[in-house]
Amino acid sequence: MTTATLTPDATTQTESWAPNLLKGKVGVIFGVAHKTSIAWAIAKALHGAGMQLAFTYQGERLEKNVRELVEPTMEGSLIVPCDVTDDAQVAAVFKQIDDKYGKLDTLVHSVAFSKKEELQGEYMNTTREGFALAHDISAYSLTAMTKAARPLFAKAGGGNIITMTYLGGERVVQNYNVMGVAKASLEMSLRYLAKDLGPENVRVNGISAGPIKTLAARGITGFSTILNKMEELTPMQRNITADEVAGTALYLASPMSGGVTGEVIHVDAGFHMMGF
Ligand code: NAD
Repeated sequence: MTTATLTPDATTQTESWAPNLLKGKVGVIFGVAHKTSIAWAIAKALHGAGMQLAFTYQGERLEKNVRELVEPTMEGSLIVPCDVTDDAQVAAVFKQIDDKYGKLDTLVHSVAFSKKEELQGEYMNTTREGFALAHDISAYSLTAMTKAARPLFAKAGGGNIITMTYLGGERVVQNYNVMGVAKASLEMSLRYLAKDLGPENVRVNGISAGPIKTLAARGITGFSTILNKMEELTPMQRNITADEVAGTALYLASPMSGGVTGEVIHVDAGFHMMGF
């Protein structure tokens, strides 16, 4: 690919960023649903750096998508089902990783959900059920996974966890509503988990990404307006790409970020630091 054809949408560049940087390492990716998934961009970057990967998919409907992406390009990867609301399924994922690889170095948590009707209008109309569901899938799941992964990190002599968050967990973003409250919970969870697992050489960090057009983003009312506004308001005058998020994930999964834990890194073209 020539420089002239490299646009912010280029999807292949991450694969050659750091060949062999993560050779011998094993990672698990939760959250691939489609080729636009942030988790898929991260998977490509980690795999391109030599990491062996396991993937989970949420239900039969998404199995085909995940297999079509993974099987031709990352032969031999473990692909297993996991609805993160089900502790037995979470446990089964790590059992299978243990059986196949005997350890785990990196866990990527790129999972979130809220009913569409909760992502519009006034936050105060959030239902008790909608609140619980968004928090269970989008925040508690990180804790459930971390607990299940702990013995495998021990076998690796340490490891790292990366979760995906958004500015709506720090500031009020119109229509993001209960997802913002769940992201605040997720961000605080990652800090408590970082404290718990620090002595075991396991680091836990988050990436706060700018808006990217994915299946999950489609559920947010007015998402296209947010994308347009970002071009106007970010210091870089543009939106970010999933590959740019993947680059930061590669750093967080590597020894280059060895002393970094309990951190949330913004990959949002600078939007989070703007006032007027
Ligand atoms: P996506 O739709 O590609 O990924 C969301 C994933 O969550 C899917 O793979 C889906 O299967 C999974 N999921 C939902 N409920 C689940 C359940 N019960 N069990 C297992 N998996 C479940 O969208 P994405 O934008 O790549 O989202 C990935 C992460 O990035 C999410 O945490 C999202 O909040 C975060 N994020 C996205 C943006 C954005 O603009 N797209 C910005 C910042 C943060």
